[in-house]
Amino acid sequence: MKLGEALDKLSNACGVTGREDEVRELLKTLLKPHVDKVREDKLGNVIGVKKGKKNKTPKVMLAAHMDEIGLIVKNITKNGFLQFAKLGGIDDRVLVAQRVIVHTAKAKKPGIIGSRPPHIMKDEEKKKAIKADALFIDVGASSKKAVQKMGVKIGDVISFDTKFEKISRDIVVGKAFDDRVGCCLLVEVMKQLREVDCTVYAVGTVQEEVGLRGACVSAFHIYPDLALAFDVTVAGGVPGVKEVEAPVKMRDGPVIGVMDAGLITHPRVLSLLVDSAEENKITYQLETGLAGSTDAARIALTREGVPCGVLSIPTRYIHSPSSMLSLSDVEKAAKLAVAAIAETPKNF
Ligand code: ZN
Repeated sequence: MKLGEALDKLSNACGVTGREDEVRELLKTLLKPHVDKVREDKLGNVIGVKKGKKNKTPKVMLAAHMDEIGLIVKNITKNGFLQFAKLGGIDDRVLVAQRVIVHTAKAKKPGIIGSRPPHIMKDEEKKKAIKADALFIDVGASSKKAVQKMGVKIGDVISFDTKFEKISRDIVVGKAFDDRVGCCLLVEVMKQLREVDCTVYAVGTVQEEVGLRGACVSAFHIYPDLALAFDVTVAGGVPGVKEVEAPVKMRDGPVIGVMDAGLITHPRVLSLLVDSAEENKITYQLETGLAGSTDAARIALTREGVPCGVLSIPTRYIHSPSSMLSLSDVEKAAKLAVAAIAETPKNF
């Protein structure tokens, strides 16, 4: 399967934090042809393994999280509206008027995030962002009973209703590129890896958006000699964003993380990535000082410590219902990861 096709499928699948089932099954299917074994651990992480040709080889863990930000049903009003809590970091301002899907045990129910109409708002009220707790989901039901009849329960998750689309030769839009593009990279890297002197673990992790939880247990089990997280990062180069605030840009190549809020990339991993990019003439960008973090932050603190790095795709409008990225950045990231893994036995 081509990279764009895989991303299409992965982006459209639902994997709201803690309910990653659809993505998990898809990722297993996509990984299977390219690994020796795929398994699932007790928390729901997917682990695909490609064994090294020698007995004593370094263990490399590649991690990408399967979960996406979303909402969860918190209350059903007597008039049949759903009030919700947020799963992961979502800016309240992106929620208003979005189309969503409520995932009940049996079916997917469409709905709209409703709010007080601006027409009746006082001037002062119009100036403020509407808070999430003042919003509700309208599934077109007339009562609590009707909602319950639809099968909606407290705790059902809600995802954004956004369909993947290729809008030019290289640019795609869709939901949950954070971090389905990472999952897509896992598949692409395993596909491109030929015989190497490393045992490579491709891990689709759960519950990253609520605290890097899946990465924690999967890294404990694998205890790799080196780990790379594949994720997205904030792409600047759009109106209103200063270069110093977000210097990396879409289309300028994959991003090698130097430091973020949770990780100082291990110097040997940083040189491995930079040298591999230079030697293979892959354009790349370096990034530091970002407020967020990735699975690598947690993996690095496993047992006695794991040298970690981050490879990310500069993505516009992350943590919102629709984001945008360049497929050429993803292709380059895959090439870079494959090159770095090939050099790993000499360095680790
Ligand atoms: Zn992410």
